[in-house]
Amino acid sequence: MIRRSLPLFLVLLASLLLAACAKAPVESMPVVDRDEVAMRLTADINVLASDEKAGRKPGTPGGRTTYTYIEKRMGEVGLVSGTNDPGSYWRLPVDLLATEPQSAQLILGQGRRRVVVAEDAAAVFTPRRRALAIGGPGTGVPVVFVGYGDGSVLGDALAGAIVVMLADPGRDAARRDALFRQRATAVLTVLPDNAALDEVRASEGQPRLQLAAEEVDNLAAYITDKAFGDFIGQRRWKGLKAEAEAGILDPLELNLSISVEGTSDRREFPSQNVIGMIPGSVPGSGAVLVLAHWDHLGECGEPGALDRICNGAADNASGIAMMLELARRLKAGPALGRDIYFLATTAEEPGLLGIRSFVRNPPFPLASIVAAFNLDMMAVAPAGSPVGFVGRGRDPQLDAVILAAIAKAGLAVGDQELADSFLKRQDGWALAQAGVPAVLLSSTYGSRAILDPFIATRYHQPSDEAATVELGGAIDDLLLHEALIREIADPAIYPAPAKTGP
Ligand SMILES: [Zn+2]
Repeated sequence: MIRRSLPLFLVLLASLLLAACAKAPVESMPVVDRDEVAMRLTADINVLASDEKAGRKPGTPGGRTTYTYIEKRMGEVGLVSGTNDPGSYWRLPVDLLATEPQSAQLILGQGRRRVVVAEDAAAVFTPRRRALAIGGPGTGVPVVFVGYGDGSVLGDALAGAIVVMLADPGRDAARRDALFRQRATAVLTVLPDNAALDEVRASEGQPRLQLAAEEVDNLAAYITDKAFGDFIGQRRWKGLKAEAEAGILDPLELNLSISVEGTSDRREFPSQNVIGMIPGSVPGSGAVLVLAHWDHLGECGEPGALDRICNGAADNASGIAMMLELARRLKAGPALGRDIYFLATTAEEPGLLGIRSFVRNPPFPLASIVAAFNLDMMAVAPAGSPVGFVGRGRDPQLDAVILAAIAKAGLAVGDQELADSFLKRQDGWALAQAGVPAVLLSSTYGSRAILDPFIATRYHQPSDEAATVELGGAIDDLLLHEALIREIADPAIYPAPAKTGP
């Protein structure tokens, strides 16, 4: 029914236009009851960000009940297994390794002289429970000085050796890696002063969480220039450094004994990525991936504070809740051509570990993913806010579809520089590095006026609680993703990008 009578030619013009439009597969979208969507998002956020989940840290009871809750909800919204493994319905195990350096000892010897280097002049780090290397005359293990080099001129000759190198800030990590690749037993880096040693302690001495699969087994020792020079004799040391500086130094076996010992606390434990999917109606046409990290920081408030639990309501209970609602809505609507996967990742906070594990061992070929949408910190902005477009400028076809959908939703594109600054700080980055077109579209990253107050008062603090989330922008973002994924899931509208390279 036409609301008002119109002159006939306008009616004709309108029907011509409609006929023209009908070619595009625009379906009349049902009116969305935003209150109902808000209720469903809130229900999931309340559970995920409850004190009972204790901040959803991987390796804790709260972490485990988080992914069992997500599995239950994936079933409820109608997803099926995405693991491609009959032995594991929802879970993709992620083996994590937590290490924390404990003790260190460095002993230098020459002839009959033997000195335990003072604690304030040396440091030793290893991911092993206990690592010991002893080298020098009579041990069969050479002690080799490579100056500012990385030993590559020696090739395999360094295998088993203890290597002494001069620090050259900016290149040292790569040089140590090169030396360990040549199977050096230990590397002793001579640092210019105590300040440099403090810096190494501040970065290497911390507890660390990593993928067990990415563990680099090594034994790295550090000593100050003064302590090393005092031991081997300042005159000889100055001579060696001068040769290294002039670039005329060949790697040289030192007539010196070194004993390096380090210990670490070490705990290996499994966590889980959880993945479900909606099978597409056009087999072999590729996949769309939606992802959100489920983990957060556990207890991160000030020691002694009344509330120390970092509930992570916006970060990222909101992303998981949005993913589940998105899955429910897509499943409830018309059939989709492509497979749609929904991945809840673990251990994003300590360095995108869950998604890196997924990339190392995906349950289906990464090359089949035509687009990936990460949902992270979604519940911050009010309705109508500009959309931050993280990951723009890497895939022209995807960019064009996204920009059109944002415009169609009546929203503006946000501050691009701000969005770009988050590119490497979210799970999508690990996918992008593996060649997967991956974006994060969220009103949270659209403007500083919205983001800065959140960062200052709630981000990674106990105050990021369920009661403080703002769902207006999240619902805009949710509906934007729904429209976009419907379009991208249709191989007739969105052709698979031509694959380049192998
Ligand atoms: Zn975070």
